[in-house]
Amino acid sequence: MAGKSFFIDTSRCTACRGCQVADKQWNQLKGTKTSQSGTHQNPEDLSFNTWKVVRFNEVAVNGKLNWYFFTDQCRHCLEPPCMYTAQSLGSKAIVRDDETGAVIYDPKVKVKAADFKQIRESCPWDIPRWDEKTQIMAKCNMCFSRIKEGLLPACVKACPTGTMNFGDRDKMLEMAEKRLKELKAVYPKAQLLNAESLRTIFLVVDDPKNYWKHAAENDVGITRISVIKKLIRPLTNFSHFVG
Ligand code: SF4
Ligand code: SF4
Repeated sequence: MAGKSFFIDTSRCTACRGCQVADKQWNQLKGTKTSQSGTHQNPEDLSFNTWKVVRFNEVAVNGKLNWYFFTDQCRHCLEPPCMYTAQSLGSKAIVRDDETGAVIYDPKVKVKAADFKQIRESCPWDIPRWDEKTQIMAKCNMCFSRIKEGLLPACVKACPTGTMNFGDRDKMLEMAEKRLKELKAVYPKAQLLNAESLRTIFLVVDDPKNYWKHAAENDVGITRISVIKKLIRPLTNFSHFVG
């Protein structure tokens, strides 16, 4: 199981939101009406038309205010609970590309509200979103149409700081381990988040909860994945989806 992966080095992120805008532009996602909510983060959350959001958190540590930036998106799980849940409900709305490992929803497949609720709840990172009017799901699709042509995902192409990286999984893991080693010398809490089970590999330098409540999934989430897998029938990967 090789395929592709993102490596997201949050220590380099400036919260410029170039990745967020590039994602909207490439995927032709509508703008979202927003309001000032007392934080730099905008919009407030992922939605049917926002597949990537730069989360911005201020946390007081030892009397000093720290800023944490976390560019949130689908983790493209190696064993995706959302896909397994959809399939257990008899839905082909979510598929996984054999070659890249991208977990993709099919925009032609409608999903009932009750089924979507289960799919969303099965994601340990609360990623999938849904449109009530069209009954279609939406989330990051790894810019599937770009990567199939050998291009970088739009967010990676747009990032000016080296935070966003993408490529063969082995190379991304190697890059992540090397950078972790460098940062550990300065930040003892530096860590990779669930790198062994996700294709979106985050590197953080402090407690993941300071970045975002769903930054890292704990053992409960990993258990949830294995339980879902055991409950469903054997599955066939999808290998010819064109987004
Ligand atoms: S992060 Fe959530 S939506 Fe993305 S593949 Fe994993 S379970 Fe599915
Ligand atoms: S484009 Fe890069 S630096 Fe800017 S917010 Fe996104 S990840 Fe951070």
